[in-house]
Amino acid sequence: MARNIGSRYTAHQILGRGSAGTVWLGEGPEGPVAVKLLREDLASDQELVGRFVQERTALLGLDHPRVVKVRDLVVDGTDLALVMDLVRGTDLRTRLDRERRLAPEAAVAIVKDVAEALAAAHAAGVVHRDVKPENILLDMEGPLGPGGAHPALLTDFGVAKLIDTPGRTKATRIIGTPDYLAPEIVEGLPPRAAVDIYALATVLYELLAGFTPFGGGHPGAVLRRHVTETVVPLPGIPEELWQLIVQCLAKAPASRLRASELAARLGDVLPLLKGIPPLDVDEPDAEPAPEPYEEDAYATGAGAGEPGPRRAAVPLVPGASADSNRDTHTSMRVPAPDELSGGPLGTARAPRPAGARRPGSARHKAGAVRKRRITLAVAAVVVVGALGAGGYLAASGDGEAPPQDSKQSSQP
Ligand code: ADP
Ligand code: MG
Repeated sequence: MARNIGSRYTAHQILGRGSAGTVWLGEGPEGPVAVKLLREDLASDQELVGRFVQERTALLGLDHPRVVKVRDLVVDGTDLALVMDLVRGTDLRTRLDRERRLAPEAAVAIVKDVAEALAAAHAAGVVHRDVKPENILLDMEGPLGPGGAHPALLTDFGVAKLIDTPGRTKATRIIGTPDYLAPEIVEGLPPRAAVDIYALATVLYELLAGFTPFGGGHPGAVLRRHVTETVVPLPGIPEELWQLIVQCLAKAPASRLRASELAARLGDVLPLLKGIPPLDVDEPDAEPAPEPYEEDAYATGAGAGEPGPRRAAVPLVPGASADSNRDTHTSMRVPAPDELSGGPLGTARAPRPAGARRPGSARHKAGAVRKRRITLAVAAVVVVGALGAGGYLAASGDGEAPPQDSKQSSQP
């Protein structure tokens, strides 16, 4: 059954669901379109509607072959909808779920496309803020590129920013998806273009490895890892490619490449990747339970001496249950310094819930202990920095009461 969206569009069939709403296959005056109908609670938020209209120019203005074009914004009664070009294909998450890992050449070709999309957006002053496989669409009707990859298009520009209304999020809330959040966001700094580069490098790592570098367990634990942990190398890829990943996952935003540079450098490594099969990385699941460490930054209290997974789910909020929400567009508090440092709250070593992803990191058994110590040393240094940032936040709090309506976005 068709449903009218404004006077010009009809929605026919659900194509997909996201955190901000439902995407429909629709029909407009110029043919088929994709219509994203925003969630009711968002659409009924007057302030958000105002911002939606305000952002109209920025949203409609982005015109690039690697960006899913927004054609129209519709505000109609209680409906708030984005009308977009229809991409016939699938999203990258669906492909990744199916294939687990991509061959390096295909992975790099896809990420290069997205880097080009980001270059155009950043040049126009737009930061995406929610780069992740769910927001990368693969156009199955487009010509096959290197490694047999379909053209990739980035979608959802500006949506994170729209949802991030000042009263709800300023200085105290984090908008984004935990696995892809740059460390400076965790520390409460405003998101600049470099956060998209970090997120995209995370996607590249995930496409190659089958898991994200810092994911797994409770979102609070994930956030902490972004700030404190170093990325574990992936064996079997050319050094040039690994260096790009490392540089773009740098903790310091200024050390990361710019989008246009990243796209160009990915183009340079593409020829080196021909014929390399998907990597055979140690399954994090196969990793043996590590011996307990007294100095373990993640186990400082009860249960610290018990063997368990290296990265247990660590509740950030007392009483909160651990979960796996890589794909939750989350709205969380900026962790307090003691939380970042694994202080009073970071005591649980709960077993990973069934179905939850294992921590995303290739722990190669030999050398794991040494790496762990290095990690801890790095962690100590970074936590000192985080404490500084936390202090800054506390000192520069804008006096706003903590948001009452911190809308936890829809769970999958
Ligand atoms: P949200 O921002 O709410 O998370 P998304 O934009 O990621 O939503 O869309 C959710 C799903 O809908 C996508 O994963 C994809 O499968 C489908 N989808 C989104 N946009 C389009 C489009 N322009 N054309 C075709 N399918 C789309
Ligand atoms: Mg999305």
